[in-house]
Amino acid sequence: VVGAPAIDRDVDSVCPFCGVGCQLTFKVRDDKILFADGRDGPANQGRLCVKGRFGFDYIHNPERLTKPLIRKAGVAKADIEGLDPANPLTHFREASWEEALDVAAQGLLKVKADKGPAGLAGFGSAKGSNEEAYLFQKLVRTGFGTNNVDHCTRLCHASSVAALLETVGSGAVSAPFNEVENSDVIVVIGSNPGVNHPVAATYFKNAVKRGAKLIIIDPRGQALSRYATHMLQEKPGSDVALLNSMMHVIVKDGLTDEAYIRDHTENFEALKTHLEDFSPEAMQERTGIAPEQIREVAHLFATAKAAIIFWGMGISQHVHGTDNSRCLISLSLMTGQVGRPGTGLHPLRGQNNVQGASDVALIPMFLPDYQSVEDPVIRGRFEDFWGAKIDPNQGLTVVEITEAIHHGTIRGMYIMGENPAMSDPNVTHAREALSMLDMLVVQDLFLTETAAYADVIFPASAWPEKDGTVTNTNRQVQMGRAAVPLPGEARQDLWIIQQMAKRFGLDWQYDHPRDVFDELTQVMDSIKGLSWDRLDREGSVTYPCESPDDPGQPLIFTDAFPTPSGRGQFVPASLVSPDETPDREYPVILTTGRLLEHWHTGSMTRRSAVLDAVEPEPVVHMPPAMIEELGIQPGDYVKVSSRRGHLKIRARADGGVQAGLIFIPFCYAEAAANVLTNDALDPFGKIAEVKFCAVRVEAAPDQ
Ligand code: SF4
Repeated sequence: VVGAPAIDRDVDSVCPFCGVGCQLTFKVRDDKILFADGRDGPANQGRLCVKGRFGFDYIHNPERLTKPLIRKAGVAKADIEGLDPANPLTHFREASWEEALDVAAQGLLKVKADKGPAGLAGFGSAKGSNEEAYLFQKLVRTGFGTNNVDHCTRLCHASSVAALLETVGSGAVSAPFNEVENSDVIVVIGSNPGVNHPVAATYFKNAVKRGAKLIIIDPRGQALSRYATHMLQEKPGSDVALLNSMMHVIVKDGLTDEAYIRDHTENFEALKTHLEDFSPEAMQERTGIAPEQIREVAHLFATAKAAIIFWGMGISQHVHGTDNSRCLISLSLMTGQVGRPGTGLHPLRGQNNVQGASDVALIPMFLPDYQSVEDPVIRGRFEDFWGAKIDPNQGLTVVEITEAIHHGTIRGMYIMGENPAMSDPNVTHAREALSMLDMLVVQDLFLTETAAYADVIFPASAWPEKDGTVTNTNRQVQMGRAAVPLPGEARQDLWIIQQMAKRFGLDWQYDHPRDVFDELTQVMDSIKGLSWDRLDREGSVTYPCESPDDPGQPLIFTDAFPTPSGRGQFVPASLVSPDETPDREYPVILTTGRLLEHWHTGSMTRRSAVLDAVEPEPVVHMPPAMIEELGIQPGDYVKVSSRRGHLKIRARADGGVQAGLIFIPFCYAEAAANVLTNDALDPFGKIAEVKFCAVRVEAAPDQ
């Protein structure tokens, strides 16, 4: 092509952003990624969204950490005012790797000696590879001696996984999103895939063009609504009421799949009795949806030849998140809409490797492949294999760890690639906790908001600088490859974890990610048919994959469920109100989420020139009538307050936001939405209710 930049090399890899897992080729010149092209991967068939195409210059950003750092003597952790990510040397000093690793390990070992293993905790990352996640949890379990290890799944689909494991025995999706090609009804609930899973959304749009019905259920309007045949803009937090009333209609109108219920499920009679009180009329006040509309979508779903359900954080991030998912699963089971082409249950996973990081046990209650850490037989097997004792008790989850720090129980943490000082609910409380630790070790690319509280910072590797595997929302295990060298003294995360392990007395000899992957295939039946060479050759294989000649199983639950009885379980869900409802003082509901251009806490995409140029500034999305009532114009500042804090932010008129609701993206440090959010937990998934809290909105003309 005339004028096209000359390229030194092409490197085939996977997009590091969302759980769609688009395969791409990095186009490299002079050890810099110039751009990326989509490849013909099973999830994207050549497509990429704006992040996958333009979002890689963050790795070359001048703020990149290139040397280990140690907090300067006398600089208090609470004193982060004026700390500039471009100039960390005001608060930290540079150190050799040897010194930084020793200081970090000695600090954590001192906590272990003083408080015991339960005084330590680790957050790993869903942005890294399966191999890194596995080694990180292995270090925490066998080196630190605790199961206090977690990651952002606790802010994501932990409640969905809790419900799926309880009812159908498997925490992953039952069918890939591409199955919509065989669906005639598609339900998208509590999810905004046009923004959060953009390439997956293209399959939904194509299915609608082919004639499929698209039912979107969400309190907020969204771009994909243009393709919806049915848009149910329910009241926030009313999912259980709405789904139970859909199921009520299906039972009353005789639309259940009796043969499927008889042959494949248990406990339907209890659910049937429970649903008696949930007529659409009885639930109308709560859901805000007309009974005839609920009847119509219930009939559509139940009578479809093949119907599939997708859900996201709008379902999971509630104190009733597990109940929401239980309802979706019951809806599929009672209509037999699972285990066949075009049917299924698909919680759209958020981060590129949140599925894989959970599979390999970066979570406090399970060992790899969701095997209970409390089961003595399973634990014994891992103790023999790992050559170390494992704590028989479940560890603490993300928000519980924050509380344990406040109570003085946990005094030392190792955080690899997570940014809880931005991502955690009630973040002021979480930041206070970080500042209270005796030793905080942070491993990251940049001086993140979390690293600002660190004692020691390790400069880490970015995804395009490493070899490794990741697992997307479709259960496709895919191969990523290093495209460019590490900058300065930054090191591979796998090397850093092993250096820490050595200082905890662990004798590990992993020379390459393939060595770790080989171990994974030995401890995880779900991927025992995989090998590094096979993945390198094929690029992507879907698990379960039981033998080298098993092509992988995209569609599961075709005959039975992996539950003790082989049957799916109906679990009735009752109405649970949000933890904090609007009142006179805080009359508006706040919900939070992502933007198309920005990824999670923004540590990568806000350092990507193109992406930050498109959405450079935090805004609160408000109904136009609310802006008018405040007597302001779009673009003016407002003050948003909750019981936990406040922020000032520009108003954006958004006709898709219903009356009484506002939306703030959580990726902007200068107006961190999580200052406002509520850290009340779902009792099963231990996920916080960041999708619903009460706030007050006032004009702030003095800004
Ligand atoms: Fe990357 Fe997700 Fe966009 Fe695909 S859809 S290019 S995986 S961010």
